[in-house]
Amino acid sequence: MRTITSPDEMRRIVKEVRARGESVGLVPTMGFFHRGHISLMRAAGEENDYVVVSLFVNPTQFGPREDFKNYPRDLFRDSEMAAEAGADCIFHPRVEDMYPQPFLTYVNVEEITGTLCGASRPGHFRGVATVVAKLFNIIPADRAYFGLKDAQQVLVIRKMVEDLDFDIDIVACPTVRESDGLAMSSRNMYLEPEERRAATVLYRSLRLAEDLVSRGERDPGEVIAAMRALIEEEPLVEPEYVEAVDFRLLKPVDGLEGEVLIALAARVGKARLIDNILLKLDINRDKEPKH
Ligand code: AMP
Repeated sequence: MRTITSPDEMRRIVKEVRARGESVGLVPTMGFFHRGHISLMRAAGEENDYVVVSLFVNPTQFGPREDFKNYPRDLFRDSEMAAEAGADCIFHPRVEDMYPQPFLTYVNVEEITGTLCGASRPGHFRGVATVVAKLFNIIPADRAYFGLKDAQQVLVIRKMVEDLDFDIDIVACPTVRESDGLAMSSRNMYLEPEERRAATVLYRSLRLAEDLVSRGERDPGEVIAAMRALIEEEPLVEPEYVEAVDFRLLKPVDGLEGEVLIALAARVGKARLIDNILLKLDINRDKEPKH
């Protein structure tokens, strides 16, 4: 497996690969790999001849009081894990090569970036869309792989690809979890043992939502209230938002039908954690609870 830092060299390599008629899969990441990242690399390996994993802690998607400086980094361990997962190349550019100064051009996906995580992280999705657009230009892959753990990010990238005519398929992969349900995240390493235990309430609240809906509940207000009540039982967990939104424009839904994303964010100690489940509800299904 090669590690490339220069954008020009990366572009040249991908050109060569494509000229050989091979397909290219791209997995954009910020590193500090866990099984979630690995699942994306494996999916990319199954569907493409050549897999590029980009590893770049992107400063423009962090707010001024966020954890850019302290974000966990371990290139050596990441390289071993990516090689083991079958990646052909790691693209690990320097900040100054990705952001020539003065940097004046940004990609702004409107509307769907102002809700959920966008509400408390102004500029976050502008940074994400900008860096992903740059990666797509440097690495014109056939497919790019993203995790549904960051469901809003998937929708933002899909919209950008549609609106700006990128010729690349966006593949959304399921959330990989710890055995107790906690969604894997590089930020879980910030958790103290007590906080790590308390954090499991997030997935338990999503399971509760799923359970209520499976018994016929169709009022999003009821579902959200039950989730919040459960989360409140854990004083170490401070919810930021708990919402039921449509899985397209991320608008709050009046009733639970069609594709509904139940999404949440919470502070647990130093970590800000997010999680979600996507419900696919049959619009014609009998609304009476099952017994
Ligand atoms: P990150 O390095 O956190 O920016 O994540 C890189 C990619 O991995 C993104 O597309 C994430 O959605 C995805 N990802 C992160 N955590 C998980 C997880 N637990 N399961 C599946 N994909 C994940």
